[in-house]
Amino acid sequence: MDSSVYVFVEDLRGEGVERVLDRISGYGVSGITVGAVHHASRDVTPHGLSRLTLRHDGAHFTPPPELFDGLRLAPVPGYTDAFDGLREACAKRSMKLHGWTVFLRNATIGTEHPDVTVRDCFGDRGSLTDLCPAHPDVRDYAVALARAVARLGVDSVVAESLHFRPLKPQRSFVPLGPMDAYLFALCFCDYCMRRATDLGVNAEVAREECARIVGGVFDGDPPAQGEVTRAALTAYAGPDVVAYARARSETVTTLVSEVASAVAAEGSKLVFIDSTGAVKGYTDGLPTPGLAAHDAWQLGVDLVALGDLVPAFGVLAYARDAARVADDVGAYLRSVGKDREVRAVLRPGYPDSDSTDRLVAKARGAKAAGALAVDFYAYGLVPHPVLDRIPAALSL
Ligand SMILES: [Zn+2]
Repeated sequence: MDSSVYVFVEDLRGEGVERVLDRISGYGVSGITVGAVHHASRDVTPHGLSRLTLRHDGAHFTPPPELFDGLRLAPVPGYTDAFDGLREACAKRSMKLHGWTVFLRNATIGTEHPDVTVRDCFGDRGSLTDLCPAHPDVRDYAVALARAVARLGVDSVVAESLHFRPLKPQRSFVPLGPMDAYLFALCFCDYCMRRATDLGVNAEVAREECARIVGGVFDGDPPAQGEVTRAALTAYAGPDVVAYARARSETVTTLVSEVASAVAAEGSKLVFIDSTGAVKGYTDGLPTPGLAAHDAWQLGVDLVALGDLVPAFGVLAYARDAARVADDVGAYLRSVGKDREVRAVLRPGYPDSDSTDRLVAKARGAKAAGALAVDFYAYGLVPHPVLDRIPAALSL
């Protein structure tokens, strides 16, 4: 079975390319998925150069200037030498190199150009981290960025955050229910509203409904009960809001289609990852009941449509339970099509896997459900003894 380990450029800088690749190759893993474009974060890194690693928004290579000529948005320069010699170092070990690319999560670009970020139902731009996939400048940037990563000679461009994102306030002492938070996260920028209107949706009514409902909770109304489903959302917010939310998938599908074509034109292939599995299980490995494939629409991800456009998908199987991992992979394959490549992304340690046996059970479950690859997340974030569980998970 194909496999890779997710690696941050800070891992390579800290321990050195040769040592990291030797270790991963020694696990029997067939490739690495390196963070070519990543977002700012502050992470505990148990065996890193620093035990607390501060990451910045950055593209860790030198983008070909002609790709961004005339575009308003350009990649934020990171460690521009991170990919120097990396492909050769992988080839020497017969390992694949994948370019992990975070597309629309970028507070540096959003702060510099607030007009390209999402705008909520109240007209506020409070999520400068989130670039709106409907904005033409964002779309041009995403396509150029995909081409730039593909030109690094990677076997695939692994797309993260190439869709709408959920709301992530750092503090909230208002008891917003899942549906309230969902309505509050919907983007009502001019471009989103125009696209919805073109699809026959009454966008202004949808915006007003969202503002009325969320505003009501802010004023003391009880929050919504229960998870977000189409039926519950229709009952809670009405058909215009549901139609508006569903119209977002056209925005995402067309963008992903353009990105996938650009990547293919550069001789690589796109692996699309939607964040739904992380939204559900990131914190504790105990995902909310709905399978990721069934709830991906909430972020504008139409897996059935994307199945015709994208050759490969990564499923963030952030769950403790092996049966859940298998269920998520199976549902994904049913949505995108049985002939598509589905890769299960597993966390080999906390909070998903408390033992080698559990990791093995999940890899086995993913494979039995039809996954063609397992990827392990992530090299620098987990202790060496946890990484040492990987060989067992690959010897199935
Ligand atoms: Zn928008």
